Amino acid sequence: MAQTMKAAVMKGIGQIEIEELPIPIPGEEEVLVRIKSVGVCGSDVHYFVEGRIGDYVVKPPFILGHECAGEVVEIGKKVKNLKPGDRVTMEPGIPCGKCEFCRSGRYNLCPDVVFWATPPVDGTFCEYVTHPANFTYPIAEKVSFEEGALVEPLAVGVYATHRAHAEPGEIALVLGSGPIGLVTIEALSARGVTRIIAVDIFDFRLKKAKELGANFTINAKEGDVKAQVEELTQGRGVDVVFETAGSVSTSQLTVEVTKKGGRVVLIGLPSQTHFDFELLKVVDKELDVLGVFRYANVYPGCVDLLNAGKVDLQSLITHRFPLEKTQEALQFAHEHKEESIKVVVNL
Ligand SMILES: [Zn+2]
Ligand SMILES: [Zn+2]
Repeated sequence: MAQTMKAAVMKGIGQIEIEELPIPIPGEEEVLVRIKSVGVCGSDVHYFVEGRIGDYVVKPPFILGHECAGEVVEIGKKVKNLKPGDRVTMEPGIPCGKCEFCRSGRYNLCPDVVFWATPPVDGTFCEYVTHPANFTYPIAEKVSFEEGALVEPLAVGVYATHRAHAEPGEIALVLGSGPIGLVTIEALSARGVTRIIAVDIFDFRLKKAKELGANFTINAKEGDVKAQVEELTQGRGVDVVFETAGSVSTSQLTVEVTKKGGRVVLIGLPSQTHFDFELLKVVDKELDVLGVFRYANVYPGCVDLLNAGKVDLQSLITHRFPLEKTQEALQFAHEHKEESIKVVVNL
């Protein structure tokens, strides 16, 4: 086998170059995977454009990308569950397994997690990666590598709906119909929730939301979201709201549109960390406010949903680029939100 591989390396803000790097060698409990598809995530775009997300600062050279699928080409000597040739998707965060959070099952909160493309850990815009076998999951033959890569964002949506205990018969409101909003809608549908209201500012995305399970859509640019939700729920409010847009106004809206005793699930990251939030409504309406940070324990379930055809990840993909054009892929995802949903890099 060749000794080097191509990697798309971030050399500075907005600047990515293809370099030859050594192919990593798998440890005893790891597999070597030839990457076939990598999804461009909002976090990749943030790092690419701004060089940082909060306290995480990119120090070039750095490799972005964490939503990926590929084919196992080599296994470590203690690996039993996988073999060369297996088609797989990989959970990008490896927790320590020892701390309080790992031991209680909430390993997404592990302070020592090693997560792809979160500085200083390199990501997967490259030809080969090594990964622990127990965070690597086989996907069905009929599932494409592109869909396999998008198990990562799906995991966020599925985990959020678990946190919220969304149930059939409830009315759910999803604020933001970008990739995370759309997979949340799909996760809700898969849980049997049939009354889903989707909100966005782009009709293109709202159309997709309808295709994927929302039965009512509101364009926030055209109408008063709060008034329309009130009308749709006869003044009662929704049982559960998911904030995925990461904007201040939608975050503030959550407590307004939720019924008494309802749940508010916050997934998006507003760029402003401090803003007015009507806390009194949380007390007065006895709301449960739940934060969602990535996900834990949902990857096998997500792969099952995908293998069983219960979710559609293929139709989230609107644009494709080769590895050589990773810079263009990130730039495109940054500049064309109104006409794109998921951009993927295929190898
Ligand atoms: Zn992601
Ligand atoms: Zn831990």
